[in-house]
Amino acid sequence: MTLPAQTADPKVPEIELDRVSMCYATDTSDVLALEQVSLRIGKGEFVSLLGPSGCGKTTLLRIMADLIQPSGGSLKVAGKSAKEARLARKYGIVFQHPGLFDWRKVKDNITLPLELMKVKKRERDEKAAELLELVGLQGFGDKYPWQLSGGMQQRVAIARALSMEPEILLMDEPFSALDEFSRERLNEELLSIWSKVGNTVVFVTHSIPEAVFLSDRVFVLSPHPGRLSAVVPIPLGRPRTKEMRNSRPFFQLIADIRDSFEGV
Ligand code: ADP
Repeated sequence: MTLPAQTADPKVPEIELDRVSMCYATDTSDVLALEQVSLRIGKGEFVSLLGPSGCGKTTLLRIMADLIQPSGGSLKVAGKSAKEARLARKYGIVFQHPGLFDWRKVKDNITLPLELMKVKKRERDEKAAELLELVGLQGFGDKYPWQLSGGMQQRVAIARALSMEPEILLMDEPFSALDEFSRERLNEELLSIWSKVGNTVVFVTHSIPEAVFLSDRVFVLSPHPGRLSAVVPIPLGRPRTKEMRNSRPFFQLIADIRDSFEGV
């Protein structure tokens, strides 16, 4: 059965930004990377931050993750400040580069956050087995990262990000280094993982088809200075399927979003 996607602005947001700005001070000048961005993301929603290079997507994600502090405005994450949410381990983060340790087995990469939390080995191994199954890498736990393809390594990074059972998964162009075939497959696998885990996902991408395929809503950002220029609901049902990529509504949504960039 195809379920309707969640497309409305949430009544109770999991992430709420109110006029968030970010100005980077450099030796020569100040760069206004984000100007007055306000948005609300619902619990369990899958949203993308979409836009060309330099429009502030990564900056926005890093602010949500409390990796950097905004110059202006405020944000709440799960009813807390971003710092409190980070300390309460509400986040899992996946970056463009998987960032795995080549000398650790796959299962030990996945459970590294648990090891740092002093979780016992038996428990860690059980969790690794569960996560390997979730990301479709059963039987690869005793391999080393360099023995896996780029797509498989990124699945390990996703499993590691999920090891602390975060409420929110922040993903910064996780598949942009992969070829298009692997990327499309990983898109489908990510949705399958998300349908089982049910957490809130904020996904940064500069690919319009990727944003449309994955998301409940797409937040379109424009550059110079980075600002939110449109919020596009994606009313394609779920689960999303390969066939949907060839459907008229899918192409129409891509065209609508592309048009929204014109004149920006
Ligand atoms: P995107 O992820 O959309 O490519 P970024 O958030 O990386 O955009 O960058 C937005 C703008 O802020 C760009 O003009 C970039 O050069 C600038 N910028 C990002 N990080 C820094 C930094 N640490 N110092 C100075 N400028 C930065």
